Amino acid sequence: MTGTTSASSSPLALAIDFGGTKIAVGVVAPDGTVVDATEVRTPAGQGAEAIAATLTKAAGDVLAGPHGARVAVVGVCSAGPVDVRTGTASPLNVSDWREFPLMERVAAIAPGLPSAFALDGVALAAAELAYGGAKDHRDALVITVSTGIGGGLILDGQVRAGQSGNAGHIGHLVVDVDGPECACGGRGCVEAIASGTSIARWAVDNGWQGEPATAALAEAARAGDELALAAFDRAARALAAAIAGTAALADIEVAVLSGGVTQVGEVLFEPLRRHLAEHAGLSYIRGITVVPSPLGRSACLLGAARLAFAALPDPIA
Ligand SMILES: [Zn+2]
Repeated sequence: MTGTTSASSSPLALAIDFGGTKIAVGVVAPDGTVVDATEVRTPAGQGAEAIAATLTKAAGDVLAGPHGARVAVVGVCSAGPVDVRTGTASPLNVSDWREFPLMERVAAIAPGLPSAFALDGVALAAAELAYGGAKDHRDALVITVSTGIGGGLILDGQVRAGQSGNAGHIGHLVVDVDGPECACGGRGCVEAIASGTSIARWAVDNGWQGEPATAALAEAARAGDELALAAFDRAARALAAAIAGTAALADIEVAVLSGGVTQVGEVLFEPLRRHLAEHAGLSYIRGITVVPSPLGRSACLLGAARLAFAALPDPIA
């Protein structure tokens, strides 16, 4: 979506997507055009303040750029859990941040501007609803499968964030009560079985000799390697159980999947559809479909900006 120039009078949003691997910062127009963007590595393990300083610098650089003067609102999303009531973030994969006052820091970066804060999965849901795979649906589950698994819920045509802002955090839905331990402290969560990290770990534990990465496993699966096929089948089955369970609970009609692991394509989607047909037995969820997201890497930025524009005193839809 980069490259199109929006009307020069429209206000812009500063969008920040905070994750355990990278911090993305962009300037987004109300029509979803990303007019400026930068990405820096999260300095994991260097302490809470070092991470905050990296974020502050990246955001400051973008604000000092050619579009900074027109920024009227700030949208922030973070890996979860978050607490939108207190503006704090405690991302599972960033051990230095526990109840870190993220929005207090953002207020210092852009003093006086209205802001919105969301779980990254909730921002993703906002983007899919506005521009992506959920555009023509009123009830959808949005899932991102990469090193972890996140998501967001769209019900009755609205993104639903829940009391603390973590609704739709599907990675920690339990799909196997006797399953492997999860980073959240629980057991048998879908993230502990179907995330990219978990798929690679299971393959290695079961004798995989190649590179422990989903891209390498996918290549082997396409060539008929039984272990690689089994690794994706197991992950797809866990995802199918999570999607069917969510569909039974929330009466959704579509699941929109994004994230690095979904880039493997049919190696994942074929067994996912097959297992979903097994698990989705109830009449109202039998027709559920799974679709890959048409949005790219900037999806969370688009969603954060979207939520920010909606938070303006005079909201921009
Ligand atoms: Zn978990």
